[in-house]
Amino acid sequence: MPERHTSTATLPLPHPGGDPESESGAAAARRVQVLLPLPLAGAYDYLAPPDCAVVPGSVVRVPLAQRELVGVVWDSPPESAPDKPVPLERLRPILEVLDVPPLTPVARRFLAWVADYTLAAPGAVLRMALSSPSALEPPKPVTLYQRCDRTLPEGLRITPARRRVLAELDDGPARSLAELSAAAGVGGSVVKGLVGAGVLEAIEVVQEARFKLPDPDTAGPALSDRQAEAAAALRRAVRAAAERNAPQDEGAFSVTLLDGVTGSGKTEVYFEAIAEAIAAGRQALVLLPEIALSAQWLERFERRFGVAPALWHSELTSAQRRATWRAVAQGRAPVVVGARSALFLPYPDLGVLVVDEEHESAFKQEDGVTYHARDMAVVRAQLGGIPAVLVSATPSLETLNNVRGGRYRALHLPERHGDAVLPEVSLVDLRRDKPEKLAGLGPGWLSAALRQAIAETLEAGEQVLLFLNRRGYAPLTLCRACGHRLQCPHCTAWLVEHRLAGRLQCHHCGFAARLPSACPDCGAEGTLTACGPGVERLAEETRLLFPEARQALMTSDTLVGPQSAAELVRAVQAREIDLLIGTQIVAKGHHFPHLTLVGVVDADLGLFGGDLRAAERTYQLLHQVAGRAGRAEHRGRVLLQTAEPDHPVMQALAAGAQENGRDRFFEAEAAAREAAGLPPFGRLAALVLSGPDARQLDETARALARAAPQEALKAGGVSILGPAPAPLAVLRGRHRRRFLIKAPRGFRLQPLLRAWLAQAKLPNAVRLQVDVDPYSFL
Ligand code: ADP
Ligand code: ZN
Repeated sequence: MPERHTSTATLPLPHPGGDPESESGAAAARRVQVLLPLPLAGAYDYLAPPDCAVVPGSVVRVPLAQRELVGVVWDSPPESAPDKPVPLERLRPILEVLDVPPLTPVARRFLAWVADYTLAAPGAVLRMALSSPSALEPPKPVTLYQRCDRTLPEGLRITPARRRVLAELDDGPARSLAELSAAAGVGGSVVKGLVGAGVLEAIEVVQEARFKLPDPDTAGPALSDRQAEAAAALRRAVRAAAERNAPQDEGAFSVTLLDGVTGSGKTEVYFEAIAEAIAAGRQALVLLPEIALSAQWLERFERRFGVAPALWHSELTSAQRRATWRAVAQGRAPVVVGARSALFLPYPDLGVLVVDEEHESAFKQEDGVTYHARDMAVVRAQLGGIPAVLVSATPSLETLNNVRGGRYRALHLPERHGDAVLPEVSLVDLRRDKPEKLAGLGPGWLSAALRQAIAETLEAGEQVLLFLNRRGYAPLTLCRACGHRLQCPHCTAWLVEHRLAGRLQCHHCGFAARLPSACPDCGAEGTLTACGPGVERLAEETRLLFPEARQALMTSDTLVGPQSAAELVRAVQAREIDLLIGTQIVAKGHHFPHLTLVGVVDADLGLFGGDLRAAERTYQLLHQVAGRAGRAEHRGRVLLQTAEPDHPVMQALAAGAQENGRDRFFEAEAAAREAAGLPPFGRLAALVLSGPDARQLDETARALARAAPQEALKAGGVSILGPAPAPLAVLRGRHRRRFLIKAPRGFRLQPLLRAWLAQAKLPNAVRLQVDVDPYSFL
C-alpha cells in the first residue's frame, strides 16, 4: 500500500462551499452544468452518474466530441440554455471527479465576474484558473528507501559505507535514492546492495511538494510611530475579516491605499498585514508588477518570515507550477507572491490581498482576457469580504480619485525611514544647455550640467545612474542620401538598432535582421546613419567621457532572467560598478545605498503621443527613478534633462515633496481629465479589429459601425470614435482598425457592448479584441 505523506504545515481545508447540493448525496443520476476552459458562451450539460459525488466547483473530466477535457461543475444553467434541454438519457456522463479541492463559491463568482466585466468567455477566464493542467492529476508516486526491521541478518558484511547508510535511516524518515546516497556519501549501488541483502526495502510514496510555514511571530524591525500606526490599521482590517469569515460576507471588505515616498517602509508595513493573515490561518497574496526582477523583495520576505513565499509567474517550470498550484488549492501555501495571473489561483481561504506598485501598467494584461489585475484584485477582495491593500509612492489617478470619493481609505508615510532624505531634483533646460558634439562619435546626449555632476559624484567615490528608457543603440536608422527610414516589414514601426547584438530589431513583433551595408531604397553605400540615442549609444559617450568609471548596462536585453538581474544588483551594492545605465528596469524597487546621482537623459520621452495617461505615467516613472538616488546616509541629487521645463510634470518633479509637487500635479491632471470626460471621470472601451487584408477589414469595420445601437448610445450619452486605423496600423502583418467608445462614469457599458457585438458577423480571418478600460492606445 502506498503511504500518503501528509504535510505538517497544513491550513484547514475549506468546506466544499456553502452549497446546498453538497448535503444532498447523489442518489440518482442528475443533470449538472460543467464549464470548460474553452472560449464558449457558457457551461455545457453533463450527466452526473449516481455514484458520482460532485458539488458546484468540483473539477471533473468530461468527454467533448472525441476529446476528454477538464472542467468545473458550474452553478446555474447558462442563460443561453436552449428552451428544450437535451434529455437526461442523451447527456454524456462525467468521467471522473479529480482529486483537487472544488473551486470555492468566491472563486467561481470571481471568474464569472471577470468574464462579465471584460466581455471574455467564462471558459477563457476559467482557463487562467486551471493554468497548470498537470496539477489536476494526482501526484506520481516516488520510490523511497527505509529499514525493513531493526535486526540485521546474520552474516551481513557491514562496510563503513553501509554503516553510514543505516545510520542515516536510523534517525530519519524514508528517503529517495538520491537523498540517501548524498546524505551518507555513498554511491547508489551501496543502497541497492542493502536492498538486495534484505536490510532495506523500497516503498512507493505519494508526496506533495512541501511549502514551509512562514513564522508570523518573528518580529520585524521596530517601526516608527507612523509606520506602527499604519501597520496597526492594516492588521485590524485583516483580523476583522478573519473573524467574520463567512464565504458570502462582504462586510469586512475594504481597500486601503498605502501611500508613502520611496524608502518610507511601505513594504515593512504591509508585511505586518501578511503576518496577521498567516496568524489567522489564512492565505495572503502579494501582486508585484515584475516578479522576475524582485530578488531583493524575496530576500526581505525570507529575512522577515524565515522561509520563501510561494512564487507564481510566467517563468516557472511546469513542475513548479504544478507544485504551487496544488499547494495553493490545498491551503498549504500561506503566502503567494506573483504576477497578475496569481490572482486566478484557487485560494481556499484568502485573507488579504496586496498590490505593490499599484500604479504600474504592467498589471494590465493586454492579450487574451484583457483585465487590469489591480482592479480585479479589488473585486476579488470584495467578493471574499477581505481587505485589499494598494501600495505606491505615486498612486494612479484612479486610486487617488477613489480615496477622494471616500471609497478607499489612505494611510500616509510621508518620510523616508531613518535619516535618509529625499533627493534634490533639478531641471536641466536642454534648449539652453545643449549637449556638445563629440569628436569621433557625433552628437552627444549629456549636457554640461549633467557631465559635471557625474564627474563630481564619481570623484567622491559614489555611484551614478543614467536613465534612458530606450533599449538598443538607436531608435531609428536613416539613409543620409535619400532619407529612407528602416521599417519593420510586418509592423508600422521603425527598426531599432541593437549594436551589441549586431542587428536591427522590431520591438513589437521581434523581427530581426542584420544592418544592411547599402540603403535598401536608393542603394547608396555607407549612408545609413543612427538617429537618436539608445542606452548602448549613451554608454559609448560615457566611456569616452569617463574612461575610468566601471560601467554596466541594465536593460531587458542585457539581463536575461532573474539570476543575471540579481547578480548585477549585487555588483552594484558591492560597489563594483560606478556608473549604471538603464531603462525602466532600474526603476523597480532596487535599493542602492551608494548611488547619489540620477541623471535622466531624456525626461520628455513618453510625454507626448495619444495616451491619455502619458503625463501621469511620465511623472510616476521619473519619480520612481529619482527615488533611486540617496537612499542611505548620503543625500541624492537628480538631474532631469528636458526641453519642456515648464511642463506640469517637470514642475511637479522639481517641486518635490516639500512643495506638494505631486498633489498639485495630480489635481491639475484630474481637472483636465474631468473636463475631457476621460478616466477615471468617464469610461472607455476599445475594440480593435485586425486582419490580413486591409479592404476586407475596412468593410468589416464599417459593417460593425452600422450595427451600433444608435438609440441606446444616444440615451446613455455614449459616443463612438472610429473606426480608424490604430496608431500601430499594421502589427505582425495584420492590419488594425480601432473603435474607441466613451461613456459617462456611471454608465454600464458591458450590456450595450454585448448586444452590439452579438450583431457582428466577422469573416474568419478577422479578429476582434475587446478592451474594457484600455491602457494601451496603440
Ligand atoms: P518602501 O517600500 O516604502 O520603498 P521599504 O519598506 O523598502 O520602503 O523600506 C526602505 C528601507 O528602509 C528598507 O531597507 C527597510 O528595511 C528599511 N526600513 C524601513 N522601515 C524600517 C524600520 N522601522 N526599521 C528598520 N529599517 C526600516
Ligand atoms: Zn515588427
